[in-house]
Order: sequence, then structure tokens, then C-alpha cells
Amino acid sequence: MTFQALGLIEPLQRTLESLGYRQPTPVQKQAIPAVLAGRDLMAAAQTGTGKTAAFALPQLQKLLLEGVTAPKAVRTLVLVPTRELAEQVYQSFRSYGGNLPLKCAVAYGGVPIEGQISKLRKGLDVLVATPGRLLDLHDQAAISFELLTTLVLDEADRMLDLGFERDLDILLAAMPKQRQTLLFSATFSDAIRQLASGMLRDPVTIQV
Ligand code: AMP
Repeated sequence: MTFQALGLIEPLQRTLESLGYRQPTPVQKQAIPAVLAGRDLMAAAQTGTGKTAAFALPQLQKLLLEGVTAPKAVRTLVLVPTRELAEQVYQSFRSYGGNLPLKCAVAYGGVPIEGQISKLRKGLDVLVATPGRLLDLHDQAAISFELLTTLVLDEADRMLDLGFERDLDILLAAMPKQRQTLLFSATFSDAIRQLASGMLRDPVTIQV
């Protein structure tokens, strides 16, 4: 099985080759074609399985092939529980998409918000954010969800453990209903299933 067979375009194949990725991991094999086909996803995948590339690669491809951003708009939003994970996921988007004409940024609390507001001003293709800081940006009208086509929740179980459920509810209510949603979690607890049932439509389920 190759990345090409999963439907990834040449520029991404070349990047993966230069990173030394010889073949897709099991979660990538299942997730990449489903994401490219526009399906919602509910994936149980631990860190180390290649889950970040499983959502970042098809997402970058879709962003490249469909549409452009606008001031304050974010087309793909990746929500993560912690700033460490935010940095990691952001770096992954940069290493996979660094050669593509797409704008990516990261936003989390504990650092000044002004730089994040200024990155949003011209609009972004990808924003990786923690829920609390995203809510602040939203409250300050620094971000628009009007062009949001994809929402990714990474490590959703940790997001619930850290008490982000209320922030998530407020943010979800402000997002377009018509969108693609990808939920990644280390485990499928009852709380995760409940969260998923409220936000996913006919999801492809993946367990690795
Ligand atoms: P993750 O599960 O997203 O935290 O990824 C774990 C590590 O695996 C990261 O360091 C990735 O760079 C690496 N990785 C992801 N996909 C592949 C692949 N198909 N081949 C080799 N390494 C990979």
C-alpha cells in the first residue's frame, strides 16, 4: 500500500518521501481515503500511531484543491487539549504543508493574544488551537467560522478530562452545521460517544 494509492497528490507524496515515510500506518490507511471522500470520522488512535498525519495530510490536500480563505476566517480548525499538543500538531502541519501555498497558525493560552489576533486578520487555512484561547479569540470577534469546512478534535478524551466540555459546546454552537468533523480519541468512553453523537454525521469508525 502506498500514499499514492490512498489518493494523495504528488506534492504530498514527495514531501513524505523526503521525510522517510515509506508506507502509511494502519490509521492512515483507513482515515486518508475517508477524509478525502468528505466523510466524518470517529477514530480510536493513541499517540505514536501516525494519527496526526492521518488527518493533516488529507486536510492539506482538500484545502489546496478547494477554495481560499478570507479575513478573520479559518477553513480548518484543529482543537487540541494542551499547548504542547498544539505545538506538535502545528509543527506536523508545517512539515507536511510547508511547501504548499497555505497559511497555518497555532493559538493557545499563557502567551499574549495580540500576535494570534494579527495572524488571524488576513485569514488562515489551518488553525490549531486549545478551546480556552479559541473562545477568547471568538469573544473578541477576532475569528470567523463562516468559511469553516472542517473541524478536527484531537485527543478528545483528554479535552473532556481537562473540563473543556462547556467551551466546546459554546464553540460548536457558533460553527456551521454543514461541515466535516473528525474526532480522534485514545479511547471510546461513554462520554466520548455522547460527544460524538452530537457532532458527527454517519461517521466512519476506525479502531487501531
Ligand atoms: P503521531 O501518532 O501522530 O504522534 O505520530 C507519531 C510519529 O510517527 C511522528 O513522529 C510521525 O512523524 C511519525 N509518522 C507518522 N506517519 C508515519 C509513516 N507513515 N511512516 C513513518 N513515520 C510516520
